[in-house]
Amino acid sequence: MSESDLKRFTSEKRKKTSDNDEGLEPLREMSKTTISGGQQVYQARQPQSPEDDQQKQPKRQFDVIAIGSGPGGYTAAIRCAQLGMSVAIVERDLIGGHAVNWGCVPLNAMIASARIVRTVRESNLYAIDIPAHRIEFPRIARRRDEAVKNVRQQVKSFLQKYNIQVYIGIAELLDEHRIMVRSVKKYPYANVYDSEGRSPYETDNFLPVQNNTVIYGKNIVISTGVDYEFPKFVETNDKKSVDTTHLLWNRTVPETLTIIGGGVLGCEIASLYSLLMSKVTLLEKNSRLLKIMDESVSLAVESRLKEFGVKVLLNVDVEKVSKGEVFYRNKQLDTTQTLTAHRVVICTGRKPSFDYDLLKKIGIAVDKENSRIVVEEDTCRTTKQNIYACGSVVSSCWSWIPCAIRQGHLVANAICKNRIIEYDRESQFQISINSAAPYVINVIPAVAGVGSVPEFEDDCLVFTFDFKSNRRAIIDGQLWGFVKMWVSKDEPKKLFAVQLVHESAAEIIEYYGMIISLNLSLHDVCLLPFAHPTYSESVKQACEYVLGRSIEYEGAYLN
Ligand SMILES: Cc1cc2nc3c(=O)[nH]c(=O)nc-3n(C[C@H](O)[C@H](O)[C@H](O)COP(=O)(O)OP(=O)(O)OC[C@H]3O[C@@H](n4cnc5c(N)ncnc54)[C@H](O)[C@@H]3O)c2cc1C
Repeated sequence: MSESDLKRFTSEKRKKTSDNDEGLEPLREMSKTTISGGQQVYQARQPQSPEDDQQKQPKRQFDVIAIGSGPGGYTAAIRCAQLGMSVAIVERDLIGGHAVNWGCVPLNAMIASARIVRTVRESNLYAIDIPAHRIEFPRIARRRDEAVKNVRQQVKSFLQKYNIQVYIGIAELLDEHRIMVRSVKKYPYANVYDSEGRSPYETDNFLPVQNNTVIYGKNIVISTGVDYEFPKFVETNDKKSVDTTHLLWNRTVPETLTIIGGGVLGCEIASLYSLLMSKVTLLEKNSRLLKIMDESVSLAVESRLKEFGVKVLLNVDVEKVSKGEVFYRNKQLDTTQTLTAHRVVICTGRKPSFDYDLLKKIGIAVDKENSRIVVEEDTCRTTKQNIYACGSVVSSCWSWIPCAIRQGHLVANAICKNRIIEYDRESQFQISINSAAPYVINVIPAVAGVGSVPEFEDDCLVFTFDFKSNRRAIIDGQLWGFVKMWVSKDEPKKLFAVQLVHESAAEIIEYYGMIISLNLSLHDVCLLPFAHPTYSESVKQACEYVLGRSIEYEGAYLN
């Protein structure tokens, strides 16, 4: 937002809130100061006069306050504001949350470049001779920065459009209605710099609160996400061991990279960095990668990573990580070995970002085992009547953006239940988030899934298909990959779950997601027209095969 837009916005806001003026202004024009150590922070411009100050004071009471501006928080906030509520959002970092600024968007922007690397390498298969190519990492980093800035700006402009008050500060729940917003002393990623060597915080035009401020919300939404957690075996302050964010913002691609943890992030990073020419070793304590997926998917991903040159070590217990050295025990051979790399990235998991004791004191139940806030599935209400939670802090959901967004909507529907039109009421359309939210693992080629795989395969029929009969795949030469489906035995046959590995997986999975969400039978799908030749046709072809009415498509029945 330009300086003039910002001024216009703040003055409009002043007009709107003047009836209730009683506190500190959360959103101010910004000025920059430098504090010790050369680190730059933003401070609110001081008011020119007491009258000026009074004029700028907005209200501090809101119908809804969301803590955290990630997909969960901003969805709940924007939707509540659209439904006429007065809304504030508190964020201790950049607007958009981890997803926009440090996770999904930057990672996927870089993966977009890695995909091109792969296409260039395979160009000969398409009769195009590209004799040489060079990976220019600084330009890849610039693309990443632009993508992040654009998406962050989108979120900000919606917060502004709906007059949502933004407080940049650390929220602390005082009781079921009051939140203390404390000023941020150091941003979470203060030591991260963009492709131009600037702190991303420099380019932000929302200013942190300067003094601790108490705000009051009739309803509160906890959407504080998760934080990286380093396991005890990583030496404290080891400069060579980093989390995913610090790896992505490294100014160069490390020549050698050790990844600890072969889950979603570990595999995505392995696929990305091996294509960017890093020599990657991936360590996983289990006997296979991607434990959350079906074994066939794990094996496919492992084989593809190996083709890219990744060294995959399974069944290993990492004992110590220090200065780029990883000491690990091979559980099968019972030997201890050492690996050395320029960087070690820790992908072993993240922990929810909230204070257990504080929540307990207020009466909000926390599921100790999964360390998530407990909520009602259809409203996301916590054990406290006016407090809701959504996104990664919530127990009933996997840590994916579609879940966070969907839960943000559920929160808004619950808070604004008298304001929503009948069609929006969840009772009109029962969708279980856990079983209907599709997810994508951005390895190359992608992996995707939706639904809950039945615990016992005897309870269902299991089918698998490859893409060899799909005409788009034949035309494009993209035959590698498969679809696995878990289908009900009862008639009419319905899908329990689908997992797939293919170049087109991220797009195709939406169809399977809709089929499960809308509770369509396979017979229903067979009636739908699909365009030709497309990868999405494979959805209908797969359903036809399961029902024994395949015209051209061959699959396999597995049980
Ligand atoms: C590298 C990476 C890549 C990913 N890629 C994908 C992907 O491709 N697809 C996908 O579906 N998911 C992806 N994810 C997961 C995705 O990031 C999460 O699902 C999503 O961020 C959850 O949203 P959220 O709103 O719960 O939390 P977040 O996005 O984490 O937002 C929470 C916000 O709350 C703020 N906050 C925390 N405590 C306080 C406090 N006390 N006061 C004020 N503010 C506070 C935090 O600063 C943060 O900005 C990825 C994650 C990572 C790490």
